[in-house]
Amino acid sequence: MLHPTSLPTQSEGEQHGDGTMAAIIDGLERFDSPGKGRGLRVTRPFKVGELLFSCPAYSSVLSAAERGCRCEFCFHRKEGLARCGKCKKAFYCNVKCQKADWAMHKLECSAMNAFGENWVPSETSRLVARILAKKKIQKEKSASEKLLLIGEMQSHLEDEDNEKRERTEADIAGLHRFFSKHLEVPDQKDLLTLFSQVACNGFTIEDDELSHMGTAVYPDVALINHSCLPSVIVTYNGTSAEIRAVQDMKPGDEVLISYIDLLYPTDDRNNRLREYYYFTCECSECTNKSKDKAKLKARKQSDPIEPQVISNMVRYARKTIREFRALKHMCEQSLEEMGAVFDDSNVYMLHMMYQAMGVCIYMQDADGALRYGGKVLKPYSKLYPPYSLNVSSMYLKMGRIYMQVDRHSEGISALKKAMAIMEVAHGKDHHYVTQLRKEIAQK
Ligand SMILES: [Zn+2]
Ligand SMILES: [Zn+2]
Ligand SMILES: [Zn+2]
Repeated sequence: MLHPTSLPTQSEGEQHGDGTMAAIIDGLERFDSPGKGRGLRVTRPFKVGELLFSCPAYSSVLSAAERGCRCEFCFHRKEGLARCGKCKKAFYCNVKCQKADWAMHKLECSAMNAFGENWVPSETSRLVARILAKKKIQKEKSASEKLLLIGEMQSHLEDEDNEKRERTEADIAGLHRFFSKHLEVPDQKDLLTLFSQVACNGFTIEDDELSHMGTAVYPDVALINHSCLPSVIVTYNGTSAEIRAVQDMKPGDEVLISYIDLLYPTDDRNNRLREYYYFTCECSECTNKSKDKAKLKARKQSDPIEPQVISNMVRYARKTIREFRALKHMCEQSLEEMGAVFDDSNVYMLHMMYQAMGVCIYMQDADGALRYGGKVLKPYSKLYPPYSLNVSSMYLKMGRIYMQVDRHSEGISALKKAMAIMEVAHGKDHHYVTQLRKEIAQK
């Protein structure tokens, strides 16, 4: 996004004008954005809420965690999805979706069976495998490349540090291990470039609660530069990206999205932009920092807090947040690794899931906490003695989280199980028990 690249020639649009697809998007044009390289701008006015364009995914991949809940092809969520008869792991709305997905699913179908529990490529490796397969099939410009070709997407290979390089190399190893049977894998240099392009230009597809559903690339959307005061936002309809105005726009205005979470103050935003996208933002919000004061509001005290104390606390907070993210990630990774050998009821798995649940509770991720807790409960009640505080406390935690997220019948059931143990262990008149009895009666 930073380095200017040559604009497509005027005739390039018409070359592929074979009637199947116009290589332009009405009301939009690619241009040279001062200081940013190529960009996208509007050629007619757009009102708040108006759709600028919709872009089908060049390639997309459903998260492994969503398997069985959503169609592998269109990401639609519904009851009674039909299963792929061969691998029994991919699910579809109907035969139409299954057929449409086969060119991509065949990269994984038999491999999933062959590797069984050991089939654990990263989502990035899975997406890259699909891009490579699609490049083989797709000889013409695709409908997602009207203004920018997949190969033209920005790469930042030369800017990557060792840590990033190591992660990419692990992903490449995964690509060779899980996909090379069904895929011609290009040489290392081309692969590194492609992974870098995907890292800078990949989009995570999220649902209405911003839960992660999958990953995709949209070359035309990748043309859009960043601003902390974006003029458009991206939403998803199935696997297509839709770009809508969130500011009134007049002809000549640049189309700008935000690449990052805009909650954070200017320094944090730019640290993130430099880390993942290798540039510093110079939008008006980054220049006048108008919201930074509110974003860094300190407690009112009789003596004002020294700036030094605040900046130290900012540093401490950033470090802690980073550590927590890493911890959650570490839990997930070690569970995946141990899970290849150990059953979910193995005590070492239970221990890790218990820790992961604690992290989820701290991060206020109720779904995550219930997922880990649910897996722990059954083996817990088998492996611990009949009356155990470890088991009752677990039922109690789960019951209260269920109640919080309005899953009352599951909540009551868990709380009653906790009570049965506590009535023995604490005695029927202990204030914990009377309190719990009240909690159950209230609902
Ligand atoms: Zn479908
Ligand atoms: Zn299959
Ligand atoms: Zn900015």
